[in-house]
Amino acid sequence: RWEAVPLAPPDSIFKLTAAYKADTHPNKVNLGVGAYRDDDSKPWVLPVVKKATEILLNDPTVDHEYLPITGLPEYTAAAARLVFGKDSSVIKDERVASVQTISGTGANHLGALFLSKFYGWNEKRIYVSDPTWVNHHAIFPQVGIPVSTYPYYDPQTIGLAFPAFLETLKTAPARSVFLLHACAHNPTGVDPTREQWGQIADAMLEKGHFAFFDSAYQGFASGDLENDAWAVREFARRSVPLLVCQSFAKNAGLYGERVGALHIVAPSKEGAARIKSQLSVLARAEISNPPAHGARLVSLILNSDELFEDWKRDIKTMAGRIIAMRKELHRLLTEELKTPGNWDHIVNQIGMFSFTGIGPAQSQALVEKAHIYLTSNGRISMAGLNSHNIRYFATQLDKAVRG
Ligand code: PMP
Repeated sequence: RWEAVPLAPPDSIFKLTAAYKADTHPNKVNLGVGAYRDDDSKPWVLPVVKKATEILLNDPTVDHEYLPITGLPEYTAAAARLVFGKDSSVIKDERVASVQTISGTGANHLGALFLSKFYGWNEKRIYVSDPTWVNHHAIFPQVGIPVSTYPYYDPQTIGLAFPAFLETLKTAPARSVFLLHACAHNPTGVDPTREQWGQIADAMLEKGHFAFFDSAYQGFASGDLENDAWAVREFARRSVPLLVCQSFAKNAGLYGERVGALHIVAPSKEGAARIKSQLSVLARAEISNPPAHGARLVSLILNSDELFEDWKRDIKTMAGRIIAMRKELHRLLTEELKTPGNWDHIVNQIGMFSFTGIGPAQSQALVEKAHIYLTSNGRISMAGLNSHNIRYFATQLDKAVRG
């Protein structure tokens, strides 16, 4: 019956993880994984999450009934305040339609589905950065939206290809949809400066473009939740039409709990209500109701001053360790090993990932000869580095670069 179904290739990241797991070499290092690891390469349950879990366990009112279709209201409201800021006019005027989603992926999907049905397209198409999170290339075509790319990363400078990016914003048809990473761009770790964000907003306002913000790393970039929401808040303040896909996978370490939200900003409170009613129809057909446990945890954290302070401390622990690894890797390469080339991008890039600038052949050599697992584009997850393996990695990278 299913003879015509072709075998699909395995997901490249998950394939890399499987190869790492099967490797028995004592010095093996996994730099592919997009999840935080502590200094002993272990997953980290945030202390604030343990505390919130304890509270939930002892709460006699918690049951396993369905949540509303659009999610736990105290969670979605607090999540919107977290990204836009509680004093934002979009929050005060109640112009945000917020719906709980299956983490950031579900938010991207629901946002894409909503746009595919209701956006006033000149041409149905989304522009994503070149490169971007690989799943963006799958999510939009799934709902019938073709994907085009805009220049983003310049391999020459290992930085932002800003003039070419701006040019695409200016030449794309009016009312185009641009996907922007709110902070800590995946996979490059290269973010626009505030001045550049300002120019991006200018160009988008001029052409009437729509900003599809993907925010999977708030707090993870700089260690500061407010700072990492700056671009979204600035665009909202300047009335660039936008939506935000929000994930608590990384910043709360709740990967498997699938806690996310989609926030669509409307011109009026009444418009937000209409949008929310349609999002509810779409969510009903897809998932009926979102999962409760993770949303309850995040709601407790966001709505309690004490837990919120604890969370900020935990975020600083994670972001701080990653920033320390960047500094140490940079020091080892430039001062100790005197590796050929400029390595300043290691400390200038932001968030969990870093584009090292090495090519596919060198990346492959690291995997095959050194048991260091990374994607062929030279991207490394800084979270995979720690005080025990960083010297080994730097030495092997140095070897690969020298050839
Ligand atoms: N967007 C980007 C840019 C990401 O890097 C990720 C996680 N890899 C996500 C969205 C979604 O992740 P999740 O569904 O686990 O929240």
